[in-house]
Amino acid sequence: MEDYIQITKLNDFIFCPYSIYFHTLYQNYNERVYHGSAQVAGKIKHESIDKSKYSTEKRYIQGMAVYSEKYRLMGKIDIYDIKTKTLIERKNKIVKIYDGYKLQLVAQKVCLEEMGYEVKNIEMYSITDNKVWKLKYSEDDLKKMEDVIKQIRNFDFKKINVEINPEKCNNCIYNSLCNFKTI
Ligand code: SF4
Repeated sequence: MEDYIQITKLNDFIFCPYSIYFHTLYQNYNERVYHGSAQVAGKIKHESIDKSKYSTEKRYIQGMAVYSEKYRLMGKIDIYDIKTKTLIERKNKIVKIYDGYKLQLVAQKVCLEEMGYEVKNIEMYSITDNKVWKLKYSEDDLKKMEDVIKQIRNFDFKKINVEINPEKCNNCIYNSLCNFKTI
C-alpha cells in the first residue's frame, strides 16, 4: 500500500502543493507539536468520531477505514448514515466550503462505493454552529479528483514553482516549519 495516497493529502495539496511535503514528513508525528491551538480544539471535538461517541445508533458507521484499489487511495470516513446513504464530514467550524473539503468527500465516496456502499448524498457539518452544508456531486468532481491525484503523483519539488499566497501561509498549520513561505 505504499503508493497509496492518503485522502487528507488531496485537501492539503489543493490548499498548497508544498504542504504535501510536511504532510508526508509529519504524518506519523504527534500532531500537537505543530498544530496551532484552533486546529487542536477542532481535533479534540473531532475525536468523538474516532472514538465512536457520535451516536450509538446502528445506522451510523463511524471512523471507518476506506480505500480504493482503482485510484490507490486510502483514508477514513467520519460518518456514513446507512439509512439515508449520506456521507458526512465534520469540522469544528466551517465558514465556507473549500474545494479541498469537497474533494476529500468525493474521494471518500469513491472508496465507499468501491467497497460496496451506496452514497447518495455528501454533506459537511460545522460543529460549533450546528450547521449542515449539503454538497452537490457531479462527474466534474470526479474528474477534478482524478486530476489532483495525477498532479500529486507527478509532483516534483525541484521542477514546479508554486505561487505563494501569504494569506494561506498565515492560516497554514505547517507555517512554523515551512521554508517555502519565504521563497
Ligand atoms: S506555509 Fe505557505 S508555502 Fe508553506 S506549506 Fe503552508 S501555505 Fe504552503
